[in-house]
Amino acid sequence: MIGEEERTAVDRVLRSGMIAQGPEVASFEEEFSSHFVRSRPAVAVNSGTSGLHLGLLAAGIGPGDEVIVPSFTFAATANSVALTGAQPVFVDIDPVSYTIDPSAVEAAVTGRTKAVLPVHLYGHPAKMNELNELAAKYSIAVYEDAAQAHGACLNGKPVGTFGEFAMFSLYPTKNMTSVEGGMVAASETLARQVRLLRNQGMEQQYHNEIVGFNTRMSDVHAAVGRVQLTKVDSWTQSRRDNARFFDENLHGVGIPMVDQGAQHVYHQYTIRVPEDRDGFVSALRDKYSVGAGVYYPIPNHRLPSLARYATGTEMPATEQAVREVVSLPVHPGISIRDRERVVEAVNELAGAGA
Ligand SMILES: *Cc1c(COP(=O)(O)O)cnc(C)c1O
Repeated sequence: MIGEEERTAVDRVLRSGMIAQGPEVASFEEEFSSHFVRSRPAVAVNSGTSGLHLGLLAAGIGPGDEVIVPSFTFAATANSVALTGAQPVFVDIDPVSYTIDPSAVEAAVTGRTKAVLPVHLYGHPAKMNELNELAAKYSIAVYEDAAQAHGACLNGKPVGTFGEFAMFSLYPTKNMTSVEGGMVAASETLARQVRLLRNQGMEQQYHNEIVGFNTRMSDVHAAVGRVQLTKVDSWTQSRRDNARFFDENLHGVGIPMVDQGAQHVYHQYTIRVPEDRDGFVSALRDKYSVGAGVYYPIPNHRLPSLARYATGTEMPATEQAVREVVSLPVHPGISIRDRERVVEAVNELAGAGA
């Protein structure tokens, strides 16, 4: 949601004449870092996808390496691995939290495995403690795709502080936005490498140290992100309130489960509809004008773009999820009346199907 404050901030930056990466980006990085990742270094880039790509390159991932990823996620997770020249190795999810299944990760480890890249899907933290144990056991790294999980925690520890690096997306549909953008939280060593990669390999102007990209964030975008940082906590609270209302009032569908110790930020509120999910979504839209979404209808290992990386490993929890999931509107923009209408519609449809 973009308000008056964001418009004012953009106008202030445009009038200043300093509009490319500059002081606003530096302030946004500092504020984001202290807000979400306990002051770990944070580096702003032009998208979440760039953040993942640069984080992986900074960590030295490349041809010949394997990185274990869930198949049940947005394609950007595996795309970023593939773009480094490494092989994304798809594994199944845990059916309760929809996050990567640590036992499936363990079964997929080979001599080439360099890292595992869990996704905090829908805003629910992945099983970071189990993954960190595996990482120690097999000497592999853990990274984080936190695109959907600004502010999510595991036993009070925020996502973005577990992996060697973590990426947060700032795309408009995410829990907060900079219009387009991404933030990489990392160790100081990796953060410096990401800073070099986003700006042609330069720390000092025209003294290029490595071959890099232009994936900088502009001060105009950072100004929007800084304002959003002042609002995101109250939005997360609204998401949680809406989720609690759904938890207490929905009947006849599978409501989202939360792992012990996990604090969900409900980027999506995702239910399961075991019978005729697609008919259910169409009826919600056509009969009740409720806009529900399916994230994601095709698992990555069956996408035309990524199927070449499929290994033939069976993923029953993933296949079931792609058939059953429906995400209901849970964002802070919905009114009390809207969420009541969602409950009435879902309960009527679920009751009619029973
Ligand atoms: C949105 C998203 C991304 C990519 O972020 P962009 O800012 O859109 O590039 C990556 N992974 C997941 C899980 C996402 O939801």
